[in-house]
Amino acid sequence: MRLPNFEYFEPETIQDAVNLLSLHKGKAKGLAGGTDLLPKLKRRVTEAQTLVNLQAIPGLRSITEEGDIIKIGALTTLGEMEESSLLKGNLAPLSEAARAVGSVQLRNTATLGGNLCQDTRCLYYDHSHLFGQSVWEKCFKRGGEVCNLIKKSKKCFAVYSGDVAPVLLALGAKVRVMGSAGERLLDLSQIYSGKGEQAYALSPEDLIAEIHVKKPSPSSYGAYVKYRERGSIDFPIVGAAAYMTVDKETVKDAKIWLTSVSSAPVEAVKAEAVLQGAKLSADLIEKAALQAHEEIAPYPNHGYSAWYLKEMVKVFVKRACTKTWEDMKGGQA
Ligand SMILES: Cc1cc2nc3c(=O)[nH]c(=O)nc-3n(C[C@H](O)[C@H](O)[C@H](O)COP(=O)(O)OP(=O)(O)OC[C@H]3O[C@@H](n4cnc5c(N)ncnc54)[C@H](O)[C@@H]3O)c2cc1C
Repeated sequence: MRLPNFEYFEPETIQDAVNLLSLHKGKAKGLAGGTDLLPKLKRRVTEAQTLVNLQAIPGLRSITEEGDIIKIGALTTLGEMEESSLLKGNLAPLSEAARAVGSVQLRNTATLGGNLCQDTRCLYYDHSHLFGQSVWEKCFKRGGEVCNLIKKSKKCFAVYSGDVAPVLLALGAKVRVMGSAGERLLDLSQIYSGKGEQAYALSPEDLIAEIHVKKPSPSSYGAYVKYRERGSIDFPIVGAAAYMTVDKETVKDAKIWLTSVSSAPVEAVKAEAVLQGAKLSADLIEKAALQAHEEIAPYPNHGYSAWYLKEMVKVFVKRACTKTWEDMKGGQA
């Protein structure tokens, strides 16, 4: 499949990139590693008359430490995150989530900014233009009025499947966004709209410059676990991140975030509440996993029923919490 024709720019400052996106409002897209955007352009499931390549902008590809904040440039590749000495110890789940993405070749090109802003996915949408259009009606995501997955639905059921966002969200990460109104620091959760057809609450000219992660306290532990069909080159069917801060095995703070269950990452707030203030045990983790099963209503996607995915939420929340607990016991031994 060939790429469509497009105008191409390679700005050397982020401000120039924002200006170009602003000038071609709605018709231009930022290009980072291109591993998500270029295949979608080839399949004609997304459109861009102009591509603004971000790779020539200096200063967006590094992982640095400033006081108790780790700053990750948006153009940092997932491969660099896997290898970073700053993402070891209790930030290791972040490298693990990066390592869980696709394949080595993909991670050498794919960036963190692109991973956080990847398009939502649906079996009825992620097909070539010609095949999809000949078989299915124009859906919400293609500007139509139907959902081909759930016929009577009034909304789009495309699913956000990024691997790295749940860990960053569990860590309370912030993003430095540059836009035509200047610079702002947002909670990562604020960039997701929750809408399948338009998954981001950012303006078309907004660019993520940096991701800020506060270093977890020495008594915080976490894990990311991913359910997928094959050992590599597969998006998550369900992904679960857990972080817990403990004091003598009593949970002082707990965060559980899931991916691939909805059009945005989802926090299992009631499951977190089960853990909060309690002494960690296998029984407690089982209760938290059951609570996650109760509260999360996964969208059916990619051939899996909502019922089955709900079961997998229970299994993978349990695994994420158990792995966290095991690391904790190892860390305190
Ligand atoms: C075979 C295959 C397997 C894959 N497996 C996985 C997987 O297992 N897990 C997973 O999470 N992903 C997976 N992906 C999706 C994709 O490769 C990754 O999400 C990757 O990290 C995207 O990064 P990129 O730099 O290539 O983004 P690009 O393709 O360059 O961009 C993606 C989107 O993000 C926007 N964007 C890029 N950078 C910024 C920025 N700084 N600010 C604002 N917007 C920005 C672009 O405009 C575009 O809309 C897979 C893709 C393929 C083709």
